[in-house]
Amino acid sequence: MLGRMESSSTPPGRHAAGLMAAAPHRDGNGSFLLAPVLVLNASYEPINVCAARRALVLVLKGVAMTEEENGHFLHAARIAMRVPSVIRLLEYRRIPHQSRALSRKNILLRDRNTCQYCAAVLPSAELTLDHVIPRSRGGSSTWENLVACCHPCNRRKGNQSPLEASMKLMREPRAFNLHTSRHIMRLMGRSDDKWRKYLFY
Ligand SMILES: [Zn+2]
Repeated sequence: MLGRMESSSTPPGRHAAGLMAAAPHRDGNGSFLLAPVLVLNASYEPINVCAARRALVLVLKGVAMTEEENGHFLHAARIAMRVPSVIRLLEYRRIPHQSRALSRKNILLRDRNTCQYCAAVLPSAELTLDHVIPRSRGGSSTWENLVACCHPCNRRKGNQSPLEASMKLMREPRAFNLHTSRHIMRLMGRSDDKWRKYLFY
């Protein structure tokens, strides 16, 4: 029956026509396929953020399931899929507690491009790294001793400790670990109410 229909009454371009009917939606899909999706571990613990496109692949592969949708549909071939806003891995993934590589870029990322003394938010090029305890005084180049700093503050502090310079750190510098990543996810989640219940726990 099906075979007859396809061979006789169905023009060869029928499937293509079906695809084209979905095309207007697909055009609109482009941007929200890049929308951030919160990735939860099987335990509901937030572990990452990825693009909707990647999240859909994980759901299609059966690696993750959709927990929240973002209100958009993906139309492709014969399927219409709801685009997720939050997905959850079906199998628990052990997250290594190792921290990220110590680099200028990651320190500025951790400190959100904010001078840790005067709170000025500046482009990366206008920030330097300050050794809280100066190198000349035995301070090491570690996550705990390096902070983002604007040039005026850096000059003012010179070879002194924050206490000697009467300059207070906004917060104690820590390694960029999962906690920091979660902090950034929290900040991103402010724009997406569906993330809130998973992030603000
Ligand atoms: Zn400053």
